[in-house]
Amino acid sequence: MGLRRDTLLFPEGRKKALTFSYDDAVTQDVRFLELLNGFGLKGTFNINTGLLGNQDHHTQDGKTVTHYKLNPEEIPEVYAGQELAVHGLTHLDLAAVPTATAAYEVMADRRNIEEITKAPVRGMAYPFGTYSEELLAVLRNCQIEYARTVAATGTFALPEDFLQWHPTCHHNDERLFALGESFLKPVEDYRGPLLFYVWGHTYEFDVYDNWDRIETFMQRMSGHGEEIWYATNQEICDYVNAAKQLRYSANGRYVYNPTVRTVWFATGNETIAVAPGETAALKR
Ligand SMILES: [Zn+2]
Repeated sequence: MGLRRDTLLFPEGRKKALTFSYDDAVTQDVRFLELLNGFGLKGTFNINTGLLGNQDHHTQDGKTVTHYKLNPEEIPEVYAGQELAVHGLTHLDLAAVPTATAAYEVMADRRNIEEITKAPVRGMAYPFGTYSEELLAVLRNCQIEYARTVAATGTFALPEDFLQWHPTCHHNDERLFALGESFLKPVEDYRGPLLFYVWGHTYEFDVYDNWDRIETFMQRMSGHGEEIWYATNQEICDYVNAAKQLRYSANGRYVYNPTVRTVWFATGNETIAVAPGETAALKR
């Protein structure tokens, strides 16, 4: 934030947000979405539109499970109310292919998803989690605003660079439930927004026969809407980017919000909400 004592809050003055990110648009997503929607949680689904309808298998830790992709016509209903994002047209390793190919993989996938969402798609997850400086430049040119990696931070920090958005952890991370309990604790010394970001692939619940794990986790994290903002990746990115647009007067007393969303922050013991297009006067 602009000045020393102002600390960003999430919408409605909440200090915490929870988001999920799942890749590949496999048929196991249907079961996952039933859980996610049932618990009132939000997430982002990164899909390869060039592979939809394909039926293959995936072997991991000696177990083979179906890796069937949903059919194109199933996509709108399965993901209703959640976010769809880019994962490359055909799941190529975008850091390993020529930059023109990477740009095509991103933009063709984006275009196909936009036919479904009827809105600009601005986020993605890296296929295989790989990226490079060259790829970051490609994504900036494609006007991709955020891209998720597979590097677990084990923390609740917001990303410094949304194009290298490191999740808190994978759902099979042994720290998952301990992190969950730590996240739910009342915040005593607020130093900035806390984001719990969980990622994975839903076919992994079949591999490890642990659907109960994610159901238990979701259940534990749900029902805290007053303290936790349940949001998609893009909603979080948009909100944080809006906060970066706040403009302060030279004396720090007046803050103007030029964006289209209300921005919340804590200053001293006060919670301030600056509405779109409005200027707030701070007591200091
Ligand atoms: Zn993938």
